[in-house]
Amino acid sequence: MAYIILNKNNFFHNLDIISKRTKSKDKIAIVLKDNAYGHGLLQMAEMSKEYGIKKAVVRSCDDAKKVEDFFDYILVLGEIPEISNRVSTKVRYTINSLEAIERFPKNTLVELKVDSGMHRNGVLPSELREAFSRITDAGLILEGVFTHHRAADELTSEWSWQNDNFKRVKEEAKTLAEEFGLSPLRFHSANSASLFRSENFNEDMARVGIASYGCLDDNDELKPVLSLYAKKISTRELKKSQRVGYGGRFIAEQNSIISNYDFGYGDGFLRCASNKYIAPNGERQVGTISMDNSSFIAKTDEILIFKDARVAAKQADTISYEMLTSLKSYIKREIV
Ligand SMILES: *Cc1c(COP(=O)(O)O)cnc(C)c1O
Repeated sequence: MAYIILNKNNFFHNLDIISKRTKSKDKIAIVLKDNAYGHGLLQMAEMSKEYGIKKAVVRSCDDAKKVEDFFDYILVLGEIPEISNRVSTKVRYTINSLEAIERFPKNTLVELKVDSGMHRNGVLPSELREAFSRITDAGLILEGVFTHHRAADELTSEWSWQNDNFKRVKEEAKTLAEEFGLSPLRFHSANSASLFRSENFNEDMARVGIASYGCLDDNDELKPVLSLYAKKISTRELKKSQRVGYGGRFIAEQNSIISNYDFGYGDGFLRCASNKYIAPNGERQVGTISMDNSSFIAKTDEILIFKDARVAAKQADTISYEMLTSLKSYIKREIV
């Protein structure tokens, strides 16, 4: 079976660099959504804890439960808890709209997401007072206010525009917190790209995903954590002009040795990279990528499919995030 190697040294190296930017390990909230960007939720939670990370961000209540023992603080981005699966006092839940507020069980720890310009989730800055008032009426415990950038990775003024919007939100939220008698709030807005753009990071926390996995674009100081290998199923000699795979898309230009390896689109290889993908050691993928396997001009027992998701993603016209989260959870993951 294809397998994944997770490089702990690289992960710790990335966390060293990130904590220099946040100025403290305690301000790093490692983003573990989507099976920790395909790396493996429990493996990444375990290594994060070993490094001394105390905060995590996940998508669902289920994931929060799975990593509860590893962290002191867990933020759930995308699910409202039922009373029955309220996990623990470590878990905070995101309010993504005004209408959602009444659906949270009383006494839930919550953080309010504010739409500072992405126009995806969150209450509008103009709805802030209404949100505070409904949260108080619903008996929820508001601990934080946060936002998300739509273009922190693009060198346009949008990033500063959203920062300015959020700055005003923070001022108003501080005043409202006093007025409603709340404890001081936690504020955060940075994802990886935003943290690496900040000259002088000074928020309470940064939500760091792709940088900790070493795949932040235009950054070669960070080191990719995940590499993926596949194992050979069979080898054959292809005569000149014979074809490979479904639809016979590849035609041998000369007699060639072709091997078939056990990693296909069903496992997370992006099919659109078919017949053009070049592996890190130079082997060329030929023919259409199948569900459970793919052919390469190679004969080694094992093949390194990728060691930097950014490079692999470019060949499939996508981003490292998609390449990584496509990797199925049943692929074996080993920490070295
Ligand atoms: C995914 C996500 C992040 C992490 O983004 P990266 O670019 O991977 O650092 C941060 N905040 C929110 C709300 C997210 O959904």
